[in-house]
Amino acid sequence: MKVLVATNARTSEKELRLILEAEGHECLMVDKSDQTIDTIYHDTPEMVMLDVALARPSAIEILAKLKSAPSTWDIPVILIASSKSAAKIAKCYELGMYDYISNPFFKEEIVARIRNIGYVCEKMKELEKLLVRDYLTGIYNRKFFMERFVEEHAWAARYQEPLSFIILDIDHFKKINDTYGHSCGDEVLRQLAKTLTSALRAHDIVARYGGEEFVILLSNTSVDDSLTVAEKIRVTIQECDFYCQENTVKLPVTVSVGVTSTDSEFDLQPDSLIIRADQALYEAKAAGRNKVMASSVKGSIRFNES
Ligand code: GH3
Ligand code: MG
Ligand code: MG
Repeated sequence: MKVLVATNARTSEKELRLILEAEGHECLMVDKSDQTIDTIYHDTPEMVMLDVALARPSAIEILAKLKSAPSTWDIPVILIASSKSAAKIAKCYELGMYDYISNPFFKEEIVARIRNIGYVCEKMKELEKLLVRDYLTGIYNRKFFMERFVEEHAWAARYQEPLSFIILDIDHFKKINDTYGHSCGDEVLRQLAKTLTSALRAHDIVARYGGEEFVILLSNTSVDDSLTVAEKIRVTIQECDFYCQENTVKLPVTVSVGVTSTDSEFDLQPDSLIIRADQALYEAKAAGRNKVMASSVKGSIRFNES
């Protein structure tokens, strides 16, 4: 585990480093309180240990900040404090501290507490994965996507930024299942999810919507730009080699894509955007498949002839 320790007590610093490293943990030491938050943002430790004696900002202030930011609220924090600091310990528990180690500490206690946290964190991650990830492909599931859609939509409306939604559906997927079997179809779905993830930017949100349908959310992207993204995806998939049955069968896979964007219609709700993109997808299928179609305020647009 990557553990950040913030303390300005030289002896604790040395001792903690020895204990943590002997247990195989990576140890990041911060001896200036005002660098703690920046180091946490920059180095993303999996656990943070704060000395109660830290000042400007204090351990309580650092903890409160970590627990209020979406990117750091789930990092477990341990306070190192003597029993004389009972009021501060209580305050830290109130703010969401995971545990505290009494100072002076002894090795066995630290090792046991960190093992305990490691175990709980691992279980939490597994649970989180079950809740937000699609079991087959490992990308986000529909439930998570819809929650993010609502959040991104609210943000985009507030800042008057365009938001684009893309839906894509594998062409004649039933034929792949019927010809090569369901497990081959599953393999294609997994490969397609990987291809999509690597073709998109890290902050684009891609999810399996259901069956052989995938959805993508592009923030601050107009309909013209999302058409370009959709076309890039269509071509990437067309040119990609999909394999199944332990790489013995090579399959041609294509997708039809429906695109829409709020553009300047900031009030357009996620449900309406989904209906519009679905309609564009239907048109792409009707036009012969392996096509990108957009439905926008300007009407239907096809990305080039393909
Ligand atoms: P179209 O080009 O019109 O989209 O044709 P299609 O064959 O792709 O569409 P259709 O809706 O007829 O078939 C979709 C198939 O996807 C049927 C269903 O059994 C299959 N499917 C859905 N979920 C899974 C899955 O998780 N694994 C596999 N292997 N197949 C799935
Ligand atoms: Mg379908
Ligand atoms: Mg299909």
